Amino acid sequence: ALTGNRDWKPAWCKPEPKPEYDVVVVGGGGHGLATAYYLAREHGITNIAVVEKGWLGSGNVGRNTTIVRSNYMLPANVRFYEHSMKLWENLSHELNYNVMFSQRGILNLAHTPSQADDFIRRGNAMLHDGADAVWLTPAEIAKKVRGLDVSAKARFPILGGLFQPRAGTARHDAVAWGYARGADRLGVDILENCEVTGFLRDGDRVTGVATVRGEIRAKKVAIAVAGSTGRVMRLAGIDRLPIESHVLQAFVSESLKPFIDTVVTFGAGHLYVSQSDKGGLVFGGDIDGYNSYAQRGNLPVVEEVMSEMASLFPGLAPVRLLRSWGGIMDMSMDGSPIITTGPLPGMFLNSGWCYGGFKATPASGWCFAWTIAKDAPHPLNAAFTLDRFHRGAVIDEKGQGATPR
Ligand code: FAD
Repeated sequence: ALTGNRDWKPAWCKPEPKPEYDVVVVGGGGHGLATAYYLAREHGITNIAVVEKGWLGSGNVGRNTTIVRSNYMLPANVRFYEHSMKLWENLSHELNYNVMFSQRGILNLAHTPSQADDFIRRGNAMLHDGADAVWLTPAEIAKKVRGLDVSAKARFPILGGLFQPRAGTARHDAVAWGYARGADRLGVDILENCEVTGFLRDGDRVTGVATVRGEIRAKKVAIAVAGSTGRVMRLAGIDRLPIESHVLQAFVSESLKPFIDTVVTFGAGHLYVSQSDKGGLVFGGDIDGYNSYAQRGNLPVVEEVMSEMASLFPGLAPVRLLRSWGGIMDMSMDGSPIITTGPLPGMFLNSGWCYGGFKATPASGWCFAWTIAKDAPHPLNAAFTLDRFHRGAVIDEKGQGATPR
């Protein structure tokens, strides 16, 4: 049916780079595009370029398992991610682009009494900070998710689960395309195939970028390159950051009739699963344990994830795996992000998203835009500084933050 449509207009233009912009955003992933959109929409700054090494959506924004949630415990995190959730709830309307945000909920399964206590404590912290959380008993879980073994005989018995009803999934590449089209319509130049290869400097101050398409001067340069943060910051002479790059893999099974209408996470290992509209199970586990900039992983994690899936849903053991892929994660040392001015004058840094930056996309762009426009953080990202690692003021929430369990 689509072949009959001949005169489709591109969703964003393909301009030539101008010699100078007010803001250059490095990285055309979800966060870079959202930043440009909110800079234009909220702060009236439209002389912006987003410079992207490849094509839009080629990075993690197009590779993730699309889980959106705000089920954190520490106040800085739950408030930030809850702000993101509220932006998600209006995003299709705001962008006039269907990002297919489906609030099907997320269920974190607890398998030991101490884990149950921990989850209930987190649920209470969420309620305290304005998020939603419900504790489900094994009987309620059995009704909600078919195929789970909730008997006491299970290899990892299910003692209950923390459910966030407003959590869910979204169509990841639509998020990139929606923000790109929105930014383009507000006057932002999106420059694809425009890798940054160096920084222009006046003393310490960053005054622009060198790219494969020539030099571009800028009053402000904002970095949002996720897993490539270490490599890009090294070009500016910053070679020590509290970030490690690791590959995270994702998997899709053959199509099955709909049977999981929520997101389920396994508390006795590291597994999260939802079912796509096409029927495939979309799932993932832990990062590959070594540092890497490769966008594909290795077999030990594949084996681990598959065995966890079979342990949680024994009936799925014969289901075939259709495909897998990987993306490069910017793992921060406390599991929480960095959205900050600096570390050099004229520069702004957005990084440290670990496994969980897709759900952060709207709030990350919104807060980063604020920080760039006002040369100071918004209260929602005031704690997400780089120097917290020097000061010992870490926001250590790897248990809930960097991992979805
Ligand atoms: P990216 O899309 O990676 O954008 C960064 C961009 O910078 C890239 O397009 C890259 O090409 C560009 N770039 C790099 N170097 C340069 C350069 N020198 N010059 C110009 N451009 C450059 N998060 C969740 O919340 N929920 C999930 O369920 C989830 N699951 C995940 C599963 C997998 C397999 C992966 C890989 C990630 C997952 N994440 C999830 C994490 C989430 O996808 C990322 O944290 C988030 O997408 C990172 O932000 P981004 O979209 O801006 O990154």
